[in-house]
Amino acid sequence: MKVASVIVDVPARQTDRPFDYLIPKRWEDLVQAGMRVVVPFGPRKLQGFIIAVKDTMDVEREKLKELNELLDVTPVLTEELLGLGFWLTDETLCFTISAFQAMLPTAVKATYNKQLVLRNPEEIEENVRALFGSRDTIDWKDIDEKWYRSVRNSIAAGAIEVVYEVKDRVQKKKQRVIYPVLLQEEIEQIAAGLKSQKQQDLLYYFLENYEPIPLKTLKEELQITDAPIKTLVKKGLLYEKYVEVYRDPYEDTRFKRTKPFPLTEEQKTSIAPILSDIEQEQHRTFLMYGVTGSGKTEIYLQSIEAVLQKGKEAIMLVPEISLTPQMVERFKGRFGSQVAVLHSALSAGEKYDEWRKIQRKEVKVVVGARSAVFAPFENLGIIIIDEEHESSYKQEDNPRYHARDVAIHRGEYHGCPVILGSATPTLESFARASKHVYHLLTMSKRMNDQALPTVEIVDMREELREGNRSMFSKLLHEKIQDRLDKNEQTVLFLNRRGHSSFVMCRDCGYVMQCPHCDISLTYHRMNQRLKCHYCNHEEPLPSACPACSSSYIRFFGTGTQKVEEELARLFPEARVIRMDVDTTSRKGAHEKLLTKFGEGKADILLGTQMIAKGLDFPNVTLVGVLTADTMLHLPDFRASEKTYQLLTQVSGRAGRHKLPGEVVIQTYTPEHYSVQLAREQQYAAFFEHEMHIRKLHQYPPYYYLTLVTVSHPELLQTVHITEKIVSMLRQKCSPQTIILGPVASPIARVKDRYRYQCMIKYKREPNLKHVLRFINEHYQAAMTKEQLQISIDFNPTMLM
Ligand code: ADP
Ligand code: ZN
Ligand code: ZN
Repeated sequence: MKVASVIVDVPARQTDRPFDYLIPKRWEDLVQAGMRVVVPFGPRKLQGFIIAVKDTMDVEREKLKELNELLDVTPVLTEELLGLGFWLTDETLCFTISAFQAMLPTAVKATYNKQLVLRNPEEIEENVRALFGSRDTIDWKDIDEKWYRSVRNSIAAGAIEVVYEVKDRVQKKKQRVIYPVLLQEEIEQIAAGLKSQKQQDLLYYFLENYEPIPLKTLKEELQITDAPIKTLVKKGLLYEKYVEVYRDPYEDTRFKRTKPFPLTEEQKTSIAPILSDIEQEQHRTFLMYGVTGSGKTEIYLQSIEAVLQKGKEAIMLVPEISLTPQMVERFKGRFGSQVAVLHSALSAGEKYDEWRKIQRKEVKVVVGARSAVFAPFENLGIIIIDEEHESSYKQEDNPRYHARDVAIHRGEYHGCPVILGSATPTLESFARASKHVYHLLTMSKRMNDQALPTVEIVDMREELREGNRSMFSKLLHEKIQDRLDKNEQTVLFLNRRGHSSFVMCRDCGYVMQCPHCDISLTYHRMNQRLKCHYCNHEEPLPSACPACSSSYIRFFGTGTQKVEEELARLFPEARVIRMDVDTTSRKGAHEKLLTKFGEGKADILLGTQMIAKGLDFPNVTLVGVLTADTMLHLPDFRASEKTYQLLTQVSGRAGRHKLPGEVVIQTYTPEHYSVQLAREQQYAAFFEHEMHIRKLHQYPPYYYLTLVTVSHPELLQTVHITEKIVSMLRQKCSPQTIILGPVASPIARVKDRYRYQCMIKYKREPNLKHVLRFINEHYQAAMTKEQLQISIDFNPTMLM
């Protein structure tokens, strides 16, 4: 008798454990861990994942309920990923089901209609063949379960495949492909016997190119119509088949194949230990600290090459905003169709296609954002995380995982190296490297010894004192004009975070606030409306101040739109491209704008954070940062670190090629060490200074942090519950641990819910997870009945 342990698809405390079900006799040798099933659960039927299949002799267990339905005949989660799911559950205190869901593409998570598609009719079992009849696609739900076993065998043999029909999916693209039927030595003989010249040509074509070819391409190549092809298909001399084409989002782009560069001495030194670990199938985590342009990406490419030569697979993570066509091109250029790309701009259907290529082992390299770390490879040879300092590697929803931790966990499992690369590593990573937990690789030379761009800092307070009220300093203004005259390009960077365009009354100082959140409303010029970025509340711009009725109510702050207008006024001849959330929300818009700029169709690229990374345009010789310090004043202990990283990244955008680069940084706090040290690209000095401050204030990497946020519609309840949690923590934690709170969160109300928090700082607190799990369970009833929410974030990257 066999029993399946199932995690059901209900994210709640009560159901967050395995439930056992009897496996019906007829499915006993079919059911495997990692498959999804439907099970009876009280009066309901629920989806779930099988996490284990057990043999049992215990007759009592015959009373167990039986599995209702099999949703898969091959597992969607490997043994490794199941294990990883449990580990995530434990590490982040999420529900096991949420951990499993996080690893799968949307198409597989939801109850999409599932189909079986014919792939290779030769390998199919006779009775399955009969199910298809003359069709090449059949619905899963039409198949009687008595055929499941044969279906599985045919799947295993590669004869058929399971496909999820995704709702948003554009019609599955198919194309007609023509196959040669005759043996090569037969072609000439048979062709000679044909009367029609066109038919002869066709066969001769296959003699030279003995491989399948899309009908369309064939017609173009030979300049012929359908007719001769159809005739030969009828005669049985050619074979025609409908083949699914993947919706490859990059199909329009032709990638020129590139060859590995001979490495420089510095690159050779850095890659040696990586190659040795790949060879010996050994896990180590490397921190590759290298200035922009030092050739890190080339090392990634050559390490992956070595992994592929061993027949293994590679995961390459890049931050979402760096996943530009230029970035993808470097990987597709080197590894061609062996590369799958996963990023959030893909539709559910496209994502699923890419995931399926991985599962079917049709690709060996995945390039993608955070969640690509879960790529279902079974033979991993390397995991690389570029720009490891990027905060987007941490997921802000449950499960609150960091891709770096997952990568290292998988690296240990597979016995393969993990590389973290950055020009500005996080303090945590650099501290670990200093303590030899990570192996440090340093790359300090830029390729071709390009000089780092010269950086000038402008004190905006001085400008104001001298009567310049413009958002452009005299220096930056002159330099932009100079670039326009020389036909060179400029990138202008507006650091918008914490600095939106709010509306304020000039008479009484009243600032328009969201009625549901403690945050000021943002002015959107396009439709003259005010919008809350937390809850989407919208209202029209008032004509008079709600507090004092004055009509002098105006908007403040510097949005990209406002800068654009100012540019148009100062440099009427300049062609400007603006990149921000408004101009890039449409799919593909981001790429289009960048391509346009790259082709020289604009003089100035103006944008927010999203243009700080990865751009590489030879004609850009000036980078201007309009306000360097807006981020310095955020209530976040990483404010200086983030400012340093950002300024360094932005500066790296200039002078990457033959033309020398210049950078102008405008700031109101020129004396701040993160501004000064970023100018000189003195990471080591910045690290020293910042470490000192972190030690002083007991922040990471000296202490671990855990943030507990309580939210509730009533203020009193919110405070009361946070107080109780704080006192529970004080009781249970060791005396060295620092527990701060309760305090109101920096954004104290969102969507009509009050938010309070408690910060735990500790060096060693082995009991902490246990205590927090207990707190979660303690408030379980209140969470369902009273709309209480408690969120627990280990090593938070956002303190809001
Ligand atoms: P990083 O990733 O550190 O910013 P890249 O790998 O992008 O640096 O290298 C910067 C430039 O130098 C790229 O244009 C790259 O093609 C080129 N490059 C890298 N390695 C070599 C090499 N060994 N020889 C010649 N050019 C190289
Ligand atoms: Zn007013
Ligand atoms: Zn709001």
